[in-house]
Amino acid sequence: MLTNLATRDVETLIHPYTQLAAFRETGPLVLERGQGVWVYDTEGKPYLEGMAGLWCTSLGYSNAELVEAAREQMMRLPFTHLFSGRSHDPAIELAERLKEIAPVPVSKIFFTSSGSEANDTQVKLVWYMNNALGRPQKKKIIARLRGYHGVTVASASLTGLPANHADFDLPIQNILHTSCPHHYRFGEAGESETDYSARLAAELEEMILREGPDTVAAFIAEPVMGAGGAIIPPENYFPAIQAVLDKYDVLLIADEVICGFGRLGTRFGSQRLGMRPDTISVAKAITSAYLPLGAVMIPEGMYQAMLEGSRKIGTFGHGFTYSGHPASCAVAIKTLEIYERDRIVEGVAAKAPRFEARFAGLRDHPLVGEARGLGLIGGLEIVADKATKRQFDPKLGIAAKVVSFAQAEGLIVRSLYGDRIAVCPPLIITEAEIDELFDRLTRALDRAEAWVA
Ligand code: PLP
Repeated sequence: MLTNLATRDVETLIHPYTQLAAFRETGPLVLERGQGVWVYDTEGKPYLEGMAGLWCTSLGYSNAELVEAAREQMMRLPFTHLFSGRSHDPAIELAERLKEIAPVPVSKIFFTSSGSEANDTQVKLVWYMNNALGRPQKKKIIARLRGYHGVTVASASLTGLPANHADFDLPIQNILHTSCPHHYRFGEAGESETDYSARLAAELEEMILREGPDTVAAFIAEPVMGAGGAIIPPENYFPAIQAVLDKYDVLLIADEVICGFGRLGTRFGSQRLGMRPDTISVAKAITSAYLPLGAVMIPEGMYQAMLEGSRKIGTFGHGFTYSGHPASCAVAIKTLEIYERDRIVEGVAAKAPRFEARFAGLRDHPLVGEARGLGLIGGLEIVADKATKRQFDPKLGIAAKVVSFAQAEGLIVRSLYGDRIAVCPPLIITEAEIDELFDRLTRALDRAEAWVA
């Protein structure tokens, strides 16, 4: 029975990433308020938010300091922009702060409102840079199957998931995809993680040689793949890939939209996984999602080329109305201050062993093929046969079923491509709440097991 709000929703909204036909029957889950790691629906039922919204509400749902930072800025100067040399103090201060904490030397910061805009900007800056450097043929960008980089035209092209391309006429020209680094699913029998990583690096090198190294500009990767399945890369993956990129003068773009600001127990995911990026995209946890904000961290070399391009063309013709929105910047400054003051990243590192161990414990469940966590993110894969890794008929929608049982148990998790389930709670979650999360998830898996029996 759809409630009044739910009926109005079905009649009026298009929901992102929703099976539009099925949704007409199920209706929405309408949330009303949040407290700590908990959110409450319109009936007052609590849910442990095991996905931090969309991998983003790192400081949970009731942080009064963030609200106050937004309020103060909105009272003082709710909006001004950064076009044509206009500026404001929150953007300047935040850019300085981001430069200080960046994992690699950064020259300048370009603000966006989202991760998709940040990655679109990356594509455009790489192209702009190589035109300015007099190498107009060096334009191809290699992404990975199952990588997720957003939904705008260029960032959706980088994304390596079928639903983001099919019937949208994507990907655009000059975007290529190499293999997804998922040892459980794609490693060969008896192949070690390190050997698998070496094989993937060799495959990347072959692709670069086949395309011609002078046509390949950049490689983009998330440290841990998020929306493509919460997939943790195999041992030595990024060092092996990095060696190939260095050899052929191919930039590494780190998409830190999920892993940035502590998710893996280090400030940036790159630091945890041995990436040495040239340029970095961030969003989400930069404001704990209290307001929209993204950013591109630009190295000196790219900035010098942008200067050159702008000298030639005149104006640097890129930017969004809300690039560096003052209220978003004020909230981001406060968020970064809280991360430091409350030692949030250290807290993640301390809680990670518990989270990772509870993930490992799920491997004993009859429905679970793989389960793996790193820091405070992880994924599991539902299989019909653990020995052969055979999956259920996709029509069964087993992962979606687990998610709906979890919801009934008062837990929010997310089903992803390939019958995978992601967990990515707010960084402030306590060890007791981690146990609560996995207890509820186990009950949901038990209910799904009974349902398929
Ligand atoms: N990059 C990564 C790694 C993401 O996880 C996402 C969103 O989930 C994006 C980019 C796109 O960000 P947005 O949805 O803010 O456009």
